[in-house]
Amino acid sequence: MKSFMAFPICSLIYIFILSIIYFSKPRIKSIENKIYKYIIITNIVGLIFELLCYVAVEITDKYYLMSMFILKGYVVYIFIWSLIFNIYVFITTLDKNKQKKITTYYKKLQIVSCFLAILFAVFAFALPIYIYNDGSLAYSYGPGVNLLLVLCGVVVSIWFVKCIKNFKYLKEKKYIPIIACIIMLSLVFIIQSSNRAILIATTGHSLIIFLMYFTIENPDMKLINQLELAKDQAEKANHAKTDFLSNMSHEIRTPLNAIVGFSQCIENATNLEEAKEDAKDIVMASNNLLEIVNGILDISKIEADKMEIVNTEYNLKEILDNLVKLIIPRIGEKDIELKTNFAVDLPDMLYGDSGKVKQIITNVLTNAAKYTEKGEINFNVDCVNNKQQCKLIITIKDTGRGIKTEQIDKLFNKFQRLDEDKNTTTEGTGLGLAITKRLVEMMGGKIVVQSEYGEGSTFTIYLNQEIANNIYKKEEVIEENITFDNKKVLLVDDNKLNIKVGTKILREYKLDITPCESGFECINKIENDNKYDIILLDIMMPKMSGVETLKRLKQIDGFDTPVIALTADAIQGRENKYLEVGFSGYLSKPIEHSELKKVLSKYLISVKKEEVEIFDEIKEDKKDIDYLKQNGVDVDSGLELLGDMETYNETLKDFLTECETRLPKMKEHLSNNDSNNYAILAHALKSDSKYLGFKKLAELSLDHELKGKENDLEYIKEHFNEFMKETERIINIIKNYLGDE
Ligand code: ADP
Repeated sequence: MKSFMAFPICSLIYIFILSIIYFSKPRIKSIENKIYKYIIITNIVGLIFELLCYVAVEITDKYYLMSMFILKGYVVYIFIWSLIFNIYVFITTLDKNKQKKITTYYKKLQIVSCFLAILFAVFAFALPIYIYNDGSLAYSYGPGVNLLLVLCGVVVSIWFVKCIKNFKYLKEKKYIPIIACIIMLSLVFIIQSSNRAILIATTGHSLIIFLMYFTIENPDMKLINQLELAKDQAEKANHAKTDFLSNMSHEIRTPLNAIVGFSQCIENATNLEEAKEDAKDIVMASNNLLEIVNGILDISKIEADKMEIVNTEYNLKEILDNLVKLIIPRIGEKDIELKTNFAVDLPDMLYGDSGKVKQIITNVLTNAAKYTEKGEINFNVDCVNNKQQCKLIITIKDTGRGIKTEQIDKLFNKFQRLDEDKNTTTEGTGLGLAITKRLVEMMGGKIVVQSEYGEGSTFTIYLNQEIANNIYKKEEVIEENITFDNKKVLLVDDNKLNIKVGTKILREYKLDITPCESGFECINKIENDNKYDIILLDIMMPKMSGVETLKRLKQIDGFDTPVIALTADAIQGRENKYLEVGFSGYLSKPIEHSELKKVLSKYLISVKKEEVEIFDEIKEDKKDIDYLKQNGVDVDSGLELLGDMETYNETLKDFLTECETRLPKMKEHLSNNDSNNYAILAHALKSDSKYLGFKKLAELSLDHELKGKENDLEYIKEHFNEFMKETERIINIIKNYLGDE
């Protein structure tokens, strides 16, 4: 008899392992899985009862009640397991068109099954069960067992009928456990009729559970989660695309409508003045449209890693002055005072990507003008120069609507406009700051925002640029009303409208224009000895491109006419590409007057380029200055800024007096963790140090100013001693120097 116990023991081990696998894996929430869960749990309980039954028949004399409880409990288990499996059969064989109501059906089945289980349990415990034990053979029998056999027979018959009714679906995977269960229970019945001492029903149940594990839909949930994540992302991307399209179609349509509308007005205009006004509006709308298209191109280029940094020498002061001129019309009629403060020691010439510097400042400055109704816009540019490096600190502070703290994180997201309800009347695409941040980062810089909702915002941009040299090259001065009488221009473009527009613009300079519609025609003209002073050559032409045309032109003997590439490929860095293939210059379409003027001036008249040198000869008092220089003080730059030795010395004295009050205050602010006031004093120290040529101190002060603004007290405290040591060193140098004087 003990050998029969091997069945439930083995089954228990297998089911235990299966349960661990099944319950540890994420599952889909289906009714089948729920039923399966109950089937496993009851089977484990049943296996334990079955093992106990072998013990119960042995101890019945001593512990009659306990052995009866175990035997009857086992009988109840078999019926309950059959009922649960019965639910599985009913759910599986449910009519396809009733699948929608499967949850209600399942609930009804649960209620009926619970009722039947309780009813059976009552009967099983009420009806007697007897135990036969002759020492070699032991088993239970009696009305309780007979009732179970009859009911099980009924249940199996129901399953059989269900299978017959759904005969055409029997090939489906989920029918396998049902068929197996019918066969298995029939076998159990046969085996147990001939040998009543073997309890194998529960082991049979375990076998069915194994079969079910492979037939119930248990997809890889990890894969499903990944798919769902991918689906989510795709949906988000799709949303972003839809938002983008609706945003863009609105943004693009607005200027386009204006262009179409005003053009129609011009078409019907009888009054020249009116037509001119309309034309002005068209130009404005076109510039707007160009700005939007450039924004879209820029962001896609940045994201495709195709944006290049194109470094050239440039004059920062000139750019800043132009930006101020540009922003004034944006402020328009608003009651806003624009205050500018550009550090006097901004290097004249810097080396870097001027176009991007301009774009970055323009975006932030334009926003300040857009989102401020009244008050002030402070546009400050400060710097710390160190040998060849110039640290630019560009601060744009406004008294506008400000940004909510919780929205600051979204500020640099593309297509993200904040305060949508207020923004309905302010034009914008939500691209400006996204582009700005990416450009700043590409240039190794940083952009920081501080804002108080309803009070205003401060955008600070930190950029490192190289100092080109100390020679200030004056830009070519181009006269306003310049003309190029009788100079001959060959304008090559396959697009008739472009030729028309180009001819009109060029005519303003009193040029003799010959239009030409293809590369072939252009080559033909040159080969036929037509002479031109300049050729404006479109790049994108069918059959023969501009580049190909130029190649062939260069092969013509004696050809030395300057050829300017004319293209809508207005990507920065492209200019160099065209110069490399042999073009003399580059003009982007739509042609800008100022650019055209520059190009025409360069090739059609010779302008004397005036170079004005800033003399760095400084009358110095050698003896005194040497001491300062030996101690690392950049007296030359100090003198450059302050003018003469007398003023320099006076400023040194002032600096000493300031330090006496400033340093204790800084210590006090630091001990009070007041980073704001600490930053203000560090800023003052930085400015003075810059004027006087204390480079290291200027750098350290800047560092502490920035950290103060960022409220990074930990950093400040860590580096405070180093900062104070340098300050004291400078104070000692000044004292020694002034004492010597
Ligand atoms: P756009 O101005 O085209 O909407 P931006 O990327 O330049 O796009 O700005 C994103 C959003 O940030 C704006 O829609 C606006 O809500 C907010 N914002 C930008 N600058 C300021 C500012 N100086 N003051 C208040 N809000 C601002």
